[in-house]
Amino acid sequence: MSAAGTPSAADPAGLDARVRVQHGAFALDVALSVPVGEVVALMGPSGAGKSTLLGVLAGLTGFDEGEVRLHGRLLDRRTHDRTSSRQTAPAARGVVLLGQDPRLFPHLTAHGNVAFGLRVHGATKAAAAAGAADWLRRVGLDGLGERRPSQLSGGQQQRVALARALATSPAAILLDEPLTSLDTETAGDVRALLHQQLAATRTTAVVATHDAVDAVALATRLVVIEDGRVTQTGPVREVLASPATRFAAAVAGLNRVVGTLEPADSAWRAGDLVLPHPAGWRQPSLVAVFRPSAVRVIDGPPRAAGEWTARIVRLEQTPAGVRMRTADPDVAVDVAADGAAGLAPGDTITLRVDPADVRVVVEH
Ligand code: ADP
Repeated sequence: MSAAGTPSAADPAGLDARVRVQHGAFALDVALSVPVGEVVALMGPSGAGKSTLLGVLAGLTGFDEGEVRLHGRLLDRRTHDRTSSRQTAPAARGVVLLGQDPRLFPHLTAHGNVAFGLRVHGATKAAAAAGAADWLRRVGLDGLGERRPSQLSGGQQQRVALARALATSPAAILLDEPLTSLDTETAGDVRALLHQQLAATRTTAVVATHDAVDAVALATRLVVIEDGRVTQTGPVREVLASPATRFAAAVAGLNRVVGTLEPADSAWRAGDLVLPHPAGWRQPSLVAVFRPSAVRVIDGPPRAAGEWTARIVRLEQTPAGVRMRTADPDVAVDVAADGAAGLAPGDTITLRVDPADVRVVVEH
């Protein structure tokens, strides 16, 4: 088993927030740092507090304690006793929030929507018209400027919203599940456009998403938030390769098996799955992380470390074959369709994972 690295601290000069919000029984208490010009992905289960956090950063949602800074500028501060509170109005922050719903003005054309944003930011009529035309071209909508939102597809509307948001050169852009309401192919196109435009404009950005593909494609760092707390943060691929929580493992599509070190520290065990003791680790509760495709079904009884007896709980068809769920420990196994022939829930099989394919992380 190999050990996961520790992420380095983020550059604090970009978007920097440390906030506490109490919404009835729900408490959000997080710190978030986005280095200048970087894109951070925010992932968490529904209700974790992602939208609340983006609302606070945009100045649309109040908070109880903490502060928000952007490029060294103090936007908001709220102290416990309210003695030194300060709040910058949403329109004066240089922060735009783009959600699932593009929220275009229905009575304005695509060109009019983008130009309106520029006019609000002080551009002359001529400059706004030229800027809007330029941005519609950049988002691939050349020639569609005279259409109203109702004459555009969902993906095209989202492109207009993105053009309107980026045309004003915001200091930061916040994207709340921007691709969720689009079909897979359109989402792919808009994702590619987002990546290209965020990179070209070096806009500091936070993208809340439930899709690991968005995180990998758009962001350099990933912040996992669960029940109002940050549970893991680091470079996207590192977090996905060494998920610290069940949620992060599910997002990454990985098995995450919690086990304990044997008393003599000779091995790590979770049910019938025994692996060699991972070098350098002393914590009693460690988590083994491995891909469902790294597990094989073998003949005969277990004979070596990494081989164990498992009971099949469920078989699910996947595009690539069959995913088997097994119990004690709960492990997913991906096999080719013919490899699962003759297997059924309730069957007992022998599984094998190469210890070299297993990463170990400390339990959170
Ligand atoms: P996410 O975006 O991760 O799905 P949200 O930020 O939307 O999560 O919600 C986090 C929690 O805060 C939920 O339990 C939600 O019901 C609650 N919540 C959100 N906004 C308010 C509000 N204005 N008043 C009370 N509770 C709220």
